[in-house]
Amino acid sequence: NRESGSRHVLKPMDSEQLREYGHRMVDFIADYYKTIESFPVLSQVQPGYLHNLLPDSAPDHPETVEQVLDDVKTKILPGVTHWQSPNFFAYYPSNSSVAGFLGEMLSAGVGIVGFSWVTSPAATELEMIVLDWLAKLLNLPEQFLSKGNGGGVIQGSASEAILVVMIAARDKVLRSAGKNALGKLVVYSSDQTHSALQKACQIAGIHPENCRVLKADSSTNYALRPELLQEAVSRDLEAGLIPFFLCGNVGTTSSAAVDPLAVLGKIAKSNEIWFHVDAAYAGSACICPEYRQYIDGVETADSFNMNAHKWFLTNFDCSLLWVKDQHALTEALSTNPEFLKNKASQANLVVDYKDWQIPLGRRFRSLKLWMVLRLYGAKTLKNYIRNHIKLAKVFEQLVSQDPNFEVITPRIFSLVCFRIVPIDNDEKKCNSRNLELLEAVNSSGKLFISHTALSGKIVLRCAIGAPLTEEKHVKETWKVIQEKVSYLLRK
Ligand code: PLP
Repeated sequence: NRESGSRHVLKPMDSEQLREYGHRMVDFIADYYKTIESFPVLSQVQPGYLHNLLPDSAPDHPETVEQVLDDVKTKILPGVTHWQSPNFFAYYPSNSSVAGFLGEMLSAGVGIVGFSWVTSPAATELEMIVLDWLAKLLNLPEQFLSKGNGGGVIQGSASEAILVVMIAARDKVLRSAGKNALGKLVVYSSDQTHSALQKACQIAGIHPENCRVLKADSSTNYALRPELLQEAVSRDLEAGLIPFFLCGNVGTTSSAAVDPLAVLGKIAKSNEIWFHVDAAYAGSACICPEYRQYIDGVETADSFNMNAHKWFLTNFDCSLLWVKDQHALTEALSTNPEFLKNKASQANLVVDYKDWQIPLGRRFRSLKLWMVLRLYGAKTLKNYIRNHIKLAKVFEQLVSQDPNFEVITPRIFSLVCFRIVPIDNDEKKCNSRNLELLEAVNSSGKLFISHTALSGKIVLRCAIGAPLTEEKHVKETWKVIQEKVSYLLRK
């Protein structure tokens, strides 16, 4: 009948429908978390699988929430890789949490777009406050706080953070060197730096031949050697080029290597190079006093980023960037069209975050970080990090006790890099055996680890950091790896 049929039709915004279906959606998601271990961690579908399951065009008539949720269960979830599974150890974690989730809901609920202060004063001001809170937890130098020339901003990703500071640095140099000097600008980093830096160079117009990718190896545990930087800078200066940007790392993507920030920063400073520190993953650990040493030297940096959406219980996306000189950012990224003019901005009384980022529009992302900080508190967050590092130690020990395996590079945080040892020094065979093991464990659906290459060696990465991971998951993961390796070595 028409009446009961229309009951299920959603209006664009109806408070009572939101209440009813919102509750149902929360139930659905809570059930998902309750049963998350029953799914294969890495989705096992084949490319194009969804085309065969969904219609070619959007429906003309409304469907019901039940119909859609049924499709989510039967068609979408099989194609989901379960990043929140306690057995997810690939890449780096991407934390979701109850507080983060509630913050996301609230942000979607109020539905504001806070590009300028006036478009939602609370969004700008809360972002400034929580970034100051976190800067203090990290014990960042005062110049990164919002009360002076510095301040923090939430970007969508570390890639955007790196790009905007590179553009700020580029324009600062070009203002004195002249626009035609673009072809002379040189960027420095170790070869362990995330590809986000290369992408930033591509977008910022830095010539590929002016990107100095300096080799890091096992002799420094894959940290950048300052003398290599110094040599490269001197060579470039002699050639009439302009060194302008250095990206240092605290926790590289491959092996969580930490560059010697203080020494690098000194070289950068004496050559007027913008020094950015990428601590996308490991920055979170530095709220613990015993790990703060890994960002010692950050006082020499011009900018610093960490992803709260990695290992800080804040749902994706929430990438935090601090700069010492906000004017460098706004001079490069400001626009001032008539349709956005307003008294507060004109009077220079406020921060307009549209001038600190690439897009105009921006979400109320500080709500979720604020909720994470308030609902868990620094003490819980520190213990959360410590627990994962403890679990990583457990895994590291299991690996080192097994003669078939070796730990590659000393573990600092919650990432363990390991591999099957070579037999008869045959590195090539060893690489393919490790890739085979990776394939075997991941296709079991019981866990998901990823790999990298360090000095030509294929290395397996077990990055611990999902909120639901406990010691039993780590031990069970090791058991699966051992089972698979004994099968492989018998072959
Ligand atoms: N930097 C490091 C050290 C990373 O590990 C990653 C991603 O894992 C990134 C940058 C890129 O992060 P995003 O996806 O936020 O751009």
